[in-house]
Amino acid sequence: MDCIFCKIANQQIPAKVAFENERVIAFHDLFPQAPTHVLVIPKTHYSTLNDVPASESALLGELVSTATGIAKELGLAENGYRVVMNCNQDGGQSVYHIHLHLLAGRQLAWPPG
Ligand code: 5GP
Ligand code: ZN
Repeated sequence: MDCIFCKIANQQIPAKVAFENERVIAFHDLFPQAPTHVLVIPKTHYSTLNDVPASESALLGELVSTATGIAKELGLAENGYRVVMNCNQDGGQSVYHIHLHLLAGRQLAWPPG
């Protein structure tokens, strides 16, 4: 499958990896929107959040716990951070392999644009 994030998960294209286990991989965004901008993805390909079955809720939970673990490890937890997953066009999704954004290191605007 011609998916850029599958290729990162398979080490076919390089990324600055922050964490990896059998199920998930986290790597720094190529075009960071904050001083820290990490993407956490499942190694299994799901195009959008709509495609994730309820039976995979533990995997979605692991994306979140991976992000919080990285935030703590990088010393960002106390000041705070944002985790967000964009879905389809109105959500601003541009890469169709689900990914959780971990954004931190500056005051983030709310509501987002
Ligand atoms: P989305 O807009 O789908 O929620 O987020 C996709 C993210 O992937 C964007 O923040 C974009 O900068 C990032 N991105 C796109 N291509 C690459 C890539 O090849 N490597 C890395 N590390 N990030 C990428
Ligand atoms: Zn993929």
